[in-house]
Amino acid sequence: MISGKTRLAGIFASPVTHSLSPLMHNTAFQARSIDAVYLAFTVDQTNLMQAVESIRTFNMLGVNLSMPNKTAVIPYLDELSQEAQLIGAVNTIVQRANRLIGYNTDGMGFMRSVNEAGVAIKNKKITVLGAGGAAKAIVIQAALDQAKEIVIYKRKNATFTSVVADFEKVAEQTNCPIIVKDYADTEQLKKDLEDTDLLINGTDMGMGAKKELMPIDPQFLHKKLAVFDLIYSPKETRFLKEAKAIGCLTRNGLGMLMYQGAIAFELWTGETMPIEEIQPLLDSKE
Ligand code: NAP
Repeated sequence: MISGKTRLAGIFASPVTHSLSPLMHNTAFQARSIDAVYLAFTVDQTNLMQAVESIRTFNMLGVNLSMPNKTAVIPYLDELSQEAQLIGAVNTIVQRANRLIGYNTDGMGFMRSVNEAGVAIKNKKITVLGAGGAAKAIVIQAALDQAKEIVIYKRKNATFTSVVADFEKVAEQTNCPIIVKDYADTEQLKKDLEDTDLLINGTDMGMGAKKELMPIDPQFLHKKLAVFDLIYSPKETRFLKEAKAIGCLTRNGLGMLMYQGAIAFELWTGETMPIEEIQPLLDSKE
């Protein structure tokens, strides 16, 4: 029941109507008997500043942010967590005593899904396909979590040089070797995969219009690899199917989605998200 004391949380994004976050957080508020609701708000660069100010005005618990607001929001915040600073993007704002603190729970959420699968990060070699927003959050968290080495494959296009420079800085700040290589160099990729422990598809090859595409030739895979695809719709991409058939441990992106939300929920409420209730709900969604 909504009361005079009900607190508000939400997501600021555009488009936003497809988001699974309201389902996740409202279920969790109810399960934990927390007097709060979570709503989806269409917010983009035209109204972001006013929307962020409303977190203070309405004494909101905080919000999640998605496209196109994750980086644009930074100038409006009072403080950034370490990972949000390194990633240069925020997906969760927490309001504490009228101060707005930006966090990025995407990378931490991914790591929880990796732990849950029984895969370790510390001292492991990780190969990441793609270097977009999601991949960057994961690479930085893996570096903070003391991965042995991270290799990123990215197309040699207009953004290549700046991405190399960005990750050189992260490598220096985290003391973790991070190397960006040309996606077209399939011989080198094959070699890197030989001693890789965890392979992550951070591209959108496998979903939407690219549903039939695979990020790499599955012949490069071997069964000692743990293969994670950040895509969660479809639940099992062609790539994951092939990896599973080879004998690899495989996971889709639902774990990352769920745990980034779980960490935001913990930051807002101090309570854990009831994963056992949320997971079947997400699994039932197409
Ligand atoms: P993004 O910022 O647009 O990055 C996409 C990356 O894919 C870029 O590095 C891009 O390469 C690369 N790419 C696209 N087509 C390619 C191709 N044909 N060959 C080689 N590389 C290609 O997107 P994002 O936000 O990081 O999202 C990436 C994926 O993660 C999407 O599938 C998204 O749905 C998923 N995701 C999942 C979660 C979750 O919670 N599970 C959260 C966020 C995102 P260039 O850099 O060369 O352009």
